Amino acid sequence: MDLQLTGKRALVTGSTAGIGFAIACQLAAEGAEVVINGRSRSGVSAAVARLIEAVPGARVSGVAADLSGATGCEALVAACPEVDILVNNLGIFDPRPFEEIQDVEWFNFFETNVMSGVRLSRAYLPAMKSRDWGRIVFISSESGVCPPAEMVHYGMSKSAQLSVARGIAETCVGSGVTVNSVLPGPTRTEGVGTFFGRLAEEQGVSLEQAEKDFFANARPTSIIKRFIEPAEVANLVAYVCSPLASATHGAALRVEGGVVRSMV
Ligand code: NAD
Repeated sequence: MDLQLTGKRALVTGSTAGIGFAIACQLAAEGAEVVINGRSRSGVSAAVARLIEAVPGARVSGVAADLSGATGCEALVAACPEVDILVNNLGIFDPRPFEEIQDVEWFNFFETNVMSGVRLSRAYLPAMKSRDWGRIVFISSESGVCPPAEMVHYGMSKSAQLSVARGIAETCVGSGVTVNSVLPGPTRTEGVGTFFGRLAEEQGVSLEQAEKDFFANARPTSIIKRFIEPAEVANLVAYVCSPLASATHGAALRVEGGVVRSMV
């Protein structure tokens, strides 16, 4: 299937690693010009080099900007003033007992996970509307529908993204701009790998056993009973970003292995 992305310019936030990097690779492989973002210049340069190695001939550049505040979002927009496709992928997580999460951390999760997407959408949407074409995708999570006891603040931010995405979609009536959210389930990224490595060590079990225990106890409704690969998430995102997905609008699309136990 040709996703018809040649000639489109895509910005993927938080894309030097994990799901964001996989999305950047997939969009580039489909012919889009891709802008990678991360906090440090060295991390961004390394990711740009890795992408070119993975997708020879890819048109890719990078912008280092910390999107956990308004200043970083403004710097990113200044360096990259126009895009056809915005993937609000940046998201932080930090398992922590609810009683220990301080106000400052609640606000940091809201600023980083929700406001980065709000600020960038606000900046890029007017030009998308006037060109009558654009794609905005928020990478939320199954945690936005099934709030996790181990990180309530993260769940809050992922639910908020679903509402923001649907709300922005409602402002796009009659235009060729679509706004959707994508809800990954537990995905085998570097960060998740490190977390499980630590957990397995603490519990004195193998990594394989720690993963089995996770799906038995923390995500028992998973139908696939395994971690999702970043590329599996990227496949859906690339489709949603494409002209082919023109009637998918205001939707919350799941790529979570069946964790969310509902039919629609
Ligand atoms: P990750 O932790 O692997 O992402 C790392 C990227 O984010 C890097 O590029 C890093 O430089 C960048 N980053 C971190 N803080 C930043 C900041 N302040 N400003 C700019 N860039 C910053 O992330 P991931 O696990 O791939 O998750 C990507 C998205 O998918 C997130 O929104 C997350 O909530 C969501 N998600 C992840 C999983 C999972 O299991 N990994 C599951 C569901 C949803």
